[in-house]
Amino acid sequence: MNYRHIYHAGNISDVVKHVVLTLLLEHLRLKETPFGVLDTHAGTGFYDLQDERAQKTSEAQDGIYKLLTAPPVPDLAAYYDVLKNFNPGWSAGTAEAFQFYPGSPLLVARLLRSQDRLIACELHRDDAEALRRQMRPFAQTQVHHRDGYEALRGFLPLPEKRGLVLIDPPYETPDEFDRLAQAIREAYARWPQGLYAIWYPVKERPAIWRFHEALAASGIAKQLCAEFIYHEETRHDRLNGCGFILINPPWQFDERLRKLFPLLHDALQTEHRGVNINWLSGEAG
Ligand code: SAM
Repeated sequence: MNYRHIYHAGNISDVVKHVVLTLLLEHLRLKETPFGVLDTHAGTGFYDLQDERAQKTSEAQDGIYKLLTAPPVPDLAAYYDVLKNFNPGWSAGTAEAFQFYPGSPLLVARLLRSQDRLIACELHRDDAEALRRQMRPFAQTQVHHRDGYEALRGFLPLPEKRGLVLIDPPYETPDEFDRLAQAIREAYARWPQGLYAIWYPVKERPAIWRFHEALAASGIAKQLCAEFIYHEETRHDRLNGCGFILINPPWQFDERLRKLFPLLHDALQTEHRGVNINWLSGEAG
């Protein structure tokens, strides 16, 4: 396990992931009844963008720092609020006094209400310990030093009966997509009512085609694929974009992302402006 998220925190793909995550949480908050969230690959939860590892790649410069200096993007109010929470001295429209970037578990924790709950899993021992420290102020969260795939078997179905499963692995091994497809099938069989958000990197297309084919053949009823592409796919040794598989997404979420992604491309001033949104199964599929 070599992957450390601090090198990538706040990059374009991270921002897109957390924007989508925030919209899904806002949707869950529309009903009073409690919801649960399972974050299978949680990271440390909190990233200091002045840390030398973040500075070494400076990936946040093209990501969150671009977004901060762009005119506010409609639909992102909740995301901006969470950012402000961790950077109280920061004001919209500028990147000044912005230093701390919240990862998925901290972002979720901020958006939980008293009746909701988060289970966050992280396999790297030091990162799990760091996450535990970050989560201490949030009573409704649990941190487990545990394999995220195994956690899907251990925790699903969530007792709240509604909620979100975020699966965001590091894609360090060539078999990650195969492992993921199998894990998604099993998780869905345990909890078909759940809302699932599975993030993936867009690098090599053949691996993604196989992944999509496996999911389309899985029998899972409603699967939306949403990709945000920011480099032309002429090279496969870099992150050209990112994608989500959304199982049981909110009604008209495809339309919402079709409107939002071009605005995000504008705000991030991306080199390439690709948006691929299609149903692998269900709805229009
Ligand atoms: N979800 C985080 C966020 O958005 O802020 C970022 C997660 S990062 C992409 C992937 C994380 O998964 C890393 O922190 C890595 O240590 C952890 N990891 C790797 N293999 C794992 C496994 N089998 N189970 C749980 N965590 C794992």
